[in-house]
Amino acid sequence: MSAEASGQRPVAGGPPAAGLPASDFRPPASRYADLHLHTHFSDGTFSPEEVVQRARRAGFSALALTDHDTVEGCERMATACAAAGIEFITGTELTAELADIELHLLAYFIDPHHPRFLREIERFQGVRQNRIREMVARLNGINVPLAVQDVFALANCRSPGRPHVARALVQAGLCGSLDEAFERYLKKNRPAWVPKAKMSALEAIQLVHEAGGLAVMAHPGLNKSDDVIPELVAAGMDGIECFHTKHSTSTSERYLMIADQHKLLVTGGSDCHGKSKGKPLIGTIKLPYTHVDKLKQRLARQLAPAK
Ligand code: AMP
Ligand code: ZN
Ligand code: FE
Ligand code: FE
Repeated sequence: MSAEASGQRPVAGGPPAAGLPASDFRPPASRYADLHLHTHFSDGTFSPEEVVQRARRAGFSALALTDHDTVEGCERMATACAAAGIEFITGTELTAELADIELHLLAYFIDPHHPRFLREIERFQGVRQNRIREMVARLNGINVPLAVQDVFALANCRSPGRPHVARALVQAGLCGSLDEAFERYLKKNRPAWVPKAKMSALEAIQLVHEAGGLAVMAHPGLNKSDDVIPELVAAGMDGIECFHTKHSTSTSERYLMIADQHKLLVTGGSDCHGKSKGKPLIGTIKLPYTHVDKLKQRLARQLAPAK
């Protein structure tokens, strides 16, 4: 496995590479976490139990479930993790925006029963369901005969997304592959693309804190969102996902520098969606457990009563 994919610093245990903060260099870790995982409670294909089974085989000590706009799978994942001796962190991935820039916010350690948090994510589940109806209407409008009930039956969850439409198109024989479905119809500015109403990122950070959690910017390398990082930090954002399957080594290094500069926590995860995009990605990112310790230390400080 390459250093890039390992989630460890490229030269962990060795001297710092030129320009990288020395404080981040430490001996290789022996315990690892994957803090970015999806199940069939959103657009992943695995059940929580299948994710845990694979994570156990890959030797993980801690996992977070980050399904889009839902915490529904967390209870089952927690049970499966407990049985496998793996630490579980409740989470979700919120789609948010700031200054017209889309970004994804990972919420960790939130109370999965927090009433306002649940109300807000349910609102965005409704947005997702309406968006599916609109996408299918647009497909039908260009004579692609996809049935909306087939998409909902395939998705079988409250938080459906474009990948479900893509899979339904393939299943109905209307597209040859998921990539073709995105390329022809579902990508931004393609005929069936529908913009998604998003949460304000600043409000999302506040909401995550209110629900007792930490807010972390997901895969910044994929979102062209660097310019808004200072504003997110000022709003209390806690961390940044430096290690992600789609980050190159240099991208991870850049965000480690940014994390250092803004005193942000460092996270990482595979963003595994099961078999929806070919080979499952779980195991491609192994975040040293020390980062989980730091998340917990920050959480303890945030929850401590002010003196
Ligand atoms: P949505 O939240 O409904 O906008 O869907 C976003 C999901 O679609 C994410 O999980 C993306 O990884 C996935 N996605 C975006 N583009 C593609 C593509 N070209 N092929 C497969 N999946 C994609
Ligand atoms: Zn997804
Ligand atoms: Fe994402
Ligand atoms: Fe994700």
